[in-house]
Amino acid sequence: MNSTKLTGKLPGSDAILVPEDLRNWSFPGSCLAVLGHPIGHSISPQIHNAALGEMSRHNVDFRDWRYFRFDVSSGQLKECLAMFSKLGFRGLNLTIPHKVEALEALDWIDSEAAEIGAVNTLVFRENGRCEGYNTDGQGLERALKENFGFPLRGGKIILLGAGGAARAAATRFLREGCSELWIGNRSSERMESLIKALAPNKEQKVQSFLLDNVPPNLLLSFGPSTLVVNATSLGLAREDDSPFDFSQFPEGGMAYDMIYNPAETTFLRNARTNGLQVSNGLSMLVHQAARSLRIWTGSEVPVEPMFAAAKEVLEERVNTA
Ligand code: NDP
Repeated sequence: MNSTKLTGKLPGSDAILVPEDLRNWSFPGSCLAVLGHPIGHSISPQIHNAALGEMSRHNVDFRDWRYFRFDVSSGQLKECLAMFSKLGFRGLNLTIPHKVEALEALDWIDSEAAEIGAVNTLVFRENGRCEGYNTDGQGLERALKENFGFPLRGGKIILLGAGGAARAAATRFLREGCSELWIGNRSSERMESLIKALAPNKEQKVQSFLLDNVPPNLLLSFGPSTLVVNATSLGLAREDDSPFDFSQFPEGGMAYDMIYNPAETTFLRNARTNGLQVSNGLSMLVHQAARSLRIWTGSEVPVEPMFAAAKEVLEERVNTA
């Protein structure tokens, strides 16, 4: 992979940087970045830089804060983390494939991230300590409240998927007091390992099912205030089917898809045409990002410019696809 010339102009939000770029790193400001592989799809720089731009209008301390994205493959993570720390980066977001691997490199891990078994936010402290957090569950909780007014406490939820995002969601749902959680997955292996890792209290009911074998009593036990969350990656391709059949679902339910591109998946379209309230995952993306930025800056983070920047870049992508 070629490295970007960092001499002269500062790389923009759309630049994809590589670890070699750190060798010539000369930006004197406060740096943040997202690391992943692949990383070309990530719109985190646009979202974070929009918030930082707004924050710097009220507080000059944020004028020299910038957020970048780096293509870092699995074997490069450990060495890269040491370089980012040495260069004085304030923190990092991690995405696939680094969220679990990074755990080994941390000096401290937040209790929710430890329960999930994955981190998406790292903080480099001045004493060289590296701390890990996971803001996905908090981002989703905020999104559900904003989109549907859905309170997790006492909530009845059907969660589809058993990967990293589902793990973060299930952990948050239980920590915040949902009363009933059904988890459905394509394969039994990952689902069993997720069920084993969860720690419901004795009032909370957790049950599982396979997506191709939905138990008949599943829908019977749910009323109109039930939430269905898609945390599978089925829907990322436009032609993908829905992981759930809404035809028997009680009217008044809610469906949230963690996928935000495409903006309306088959899952969301089916839910909408069956009378459910729907939302895609853009709100989760923005709120988990805002939570990370809050951890790094210690300041209130404005989400409106983050939503506006995300919508702009996603629209551009649709128009150029
Ligand atoms: P993982 O790879 O860890 O998990 C993927 C999940 O999708 C597994 O449960 C897998 O089932 C299931 N799956 C994959 N293909 C199919 C299929 N063809 N049919 C049914 N199920 C399938 O991914 P993540 O958990 O990290 O991400 C899941 C989704 O959530 C992605 O679409 C991602 O973009 C989105 N996401 C959105 C965020 C946001 O902020 N909006 C944040 C994080 C994730 P199995 O175990 O059987 O393989």
